[in-house]
Amino acid sequence: MGRYTGSVCRHCRALGKKLFLKGERCSTDRCSFERRPNPPGPRRRRGKTSDYSVHLKEKQIGRRVFGIYERQFRNYFIRAKAARGVTGEELVRLLETRLDNVVFRLGWASSRAQARQLVLHRHIIVNGHIVNIPSFRVSAGDSIEVKKSRSKGNYFKEQKDLLSSMPDGYWLTSDIENWTAEVLRMPEQGEMDDSFDPALIVEYYSKLV
Ligand code: SF4
Repeated sequence: MGRYTGSVCRHCRALGKKLFLKGERCSTDRCSFERRPNPPGPRRRRGKTSDYSVHLKEKQIGRRVFGIYERQFRNYFIRAKAARGVTGEELVRLLETRLDNVVFRLGWASSRAQARQLVLHRHIIVNGHIVNIPSFRVSAGDSIEVKKSRSKGNYFKEQKDLLSSMPDGYWLTSDIENWTAEVLRMPEQGEMDDSFDPALIVEYYSKLV
């Protein structure tokens, strides 16, 4: 199945939660969820919520937040399960260390979708080499930068006004002037996305994988 090309705001409405998929627009009164929080499509009477539907919904939220296909998301779960730590935490850590997410976290893009475009369009360099794979996994010690010729373009000039330094002790550090950054360590709990409960996602996949 091809990538979904409709409005991503439908995902927020279908899942009953703001997922902040459109960058700055999400914090304005142009947010579709603020105006129409009901699920898209014809109104249906809601039956009793099963455990399965709660787990499924949480998995969908995680998948939508990071903009990942089902098969890839399931593979992340398999890798997280094989890792030594707590599966749910490892799952989010794997997602957080994707290159597109790191570009988003650094503030070089206003949304993960925009960050993915920057990576795909060869704007991002990791350890001296262009990387155009959004799912590329960064490691501690990796250096990341915007390609010099691209950083002078209008997009990055405008984006610079929105940039702020990484908080002290954060897992990423950045040099705003030069569009460079470094991965100091892997992210810890409290530094990772908390818009969904990874334990419920583990529950969901545990029955299937
Ligand atoms: Fe979701 Fe953002 Fe669209 Fe609002 S504007 S519905 S938060 S994607």
